[in-house]
Amino acid sequence: MKAVKNYKFWFCTGSQDLYGDECLKNVARHSRIIVEELNKSGVLPFEVVWKPTLITNELIRRTFNEANTDEECAGVITWMHTFSPAKSWILGLQEYRKPLLHLHTQFNEEIPYDTIDMDFMNENQAAHGDREYGHIVSRMGIERKVVMGHWSDRKVQERIASWMRTAIGVIESSHVRVMRVADNMRNVAVTEGDKVEAQLKFGWEVDTYPVNEIAEAVAAVSESDTNALADEYYDKYEILLEGRDPVEFRRHVAVQAQIEIGFERFLEEKNYQAIVTHFGDLGALKQLPGLAIQRLEEKGYGFGAEGDWKVAAMVRIMKLMTAGMRDAKGTSMLEDYTYNLVKGKEGILQAHMLEICPSIAEGPISIKCQPLSMGDREDPARLVFTAKEGPGIATSLIDLGTRFRLIINEVDCKKVEKPMPKLPVATNFWEPRPNLYTGAEAWILAGGAHHTAFSYDLTSEQMVDWADAMGIESVVIDADTTIRNFKNELKWNAAVY
Ligand code: MN
Repeated sequence: MKAVKNYKFWFCTGSQDLYGDECLKNVARHSRIIVEELNKSGVLPFEVVWKPTLITNELIRRTFNEANTDEECAGVITWMHTFSPAKSWILGLQEYRKPLLHLHTQFNEEIPYDTIDMDFMNENQAAHGDREYGHIVSRMGIERKVVMGHWSDRKVQERIASWMRTAIGVIESSHVRVMRVADNMRNVAVTEGDKVEAQLKFGWEVDTYPVNEIAEAVAAVSESDTNALADEYYDKYEILLEGRDPVEFRRHVAVQAQIEIGFERFLEEKNYQAIVTHFGDLGALKQLPGLAIQRLEEKGYGFGAEGDWKVAAMVRIMKLMTAGMRDAKGTSMLEDYTYNLVKGKEGILQAHMLEICPSIAEGPISIKCQPLSMGDREDPARLVFTAKEGPGIATSLIDLGTRFRLIINEVDCKKVEKPMPKLPVATNFWEPRPNLYTGAEAWILAGGAHHTAFSYDLTSEQMVDWADAMGIESVVIDADTTIRNFKNELKWNAAVY
């Protein structure tokens, strides 16, 4: 995985000097303990950095601006231990530009019934102070996450951890650069979109290169480099000749090895983290990039097919959001292909012509060479596998002309009943929530695409928070979705946007 930076999150505790030095000492001591324990918990994917208690306009403003300019700071966590008059926060909040979490917690878990007095109450009044602070953030219309609960509660820690990954998606979005090799597939609507608006909203740079420029980079890869990578493929994957001549097969596989190296060098040199190809515009490339793209996706590159730069950018962002996650199950571009409509076994077979990321694979991964039913090139080599079981989310970012909408469907991935020996592509199979019928009807009503950015490792909550931070509409199709309510939600959203 192309790694993310060594990101950190700042922990800023609010108070004021009304309650005396003793109280401020306790506030600082308590917040240090919380930070230490959060870091020790092993739950958070990134380090929390303690900052001195914020009690004045000047310090609050300076701290938020330092957070803005610190390249490693991916967000600020705020908490009002005592009362902290919220006008003190206005200037700092106005100038702050990174993700914000309001941790609504309290140092003590239980009311100390036997000893509680007014000093204790004044010192431990987040129930009071956090409302004052929350009011000003709401009045200013600032997007933030609120997490409530005791800081030692694992559920609270997991929600902070989950938000941290959203924050990475927000921070990293403006560093995503998508290389388009050739244009959008002719006449296709849903993969189109306004690239200028995408840069305004998401910070994405989306640029086009003539296919032969990257084909030249591929041709420049030496035979020895190509052979070394092909050897690696032969070590790592099962080779399914299916009656083909082994020498001819190896030659086809080597074409993909040369494409992988050539593409990666070209992307690195020009600083792109996502790529889009088009089977109908391959220039001097001998094969549609298949195995090569699958390997690049596994390394962390975003990918979209047939010019679909929105999916390419989303796959890249979702891979960054899940980077370094323990027991990650994978993130990939997928495409809704064909249904099983047998009662009790309903679902959507997910695949693409070739380019599914092996991070979602379970079981053996094999290489096959098969003709494409489209295009006019050699039979491309591709990795073939089936995907893991379990819950995941399928997302589709669409351009409605006046705004972007992110559609998120919670899905349950399953094994298909029988092997599909004649299908020479990687597959996943899922049942959308709440069921195939309502799920598919809602998806179509929302205008969702056939291409999706899919992940086992993110939640709809994380993606909704990401969309909110980007200032775009999002809709979730999940176990609670009914068509009547969903249609109303779309109407209400239209009014809002
Ligand atoms: Mn497609």
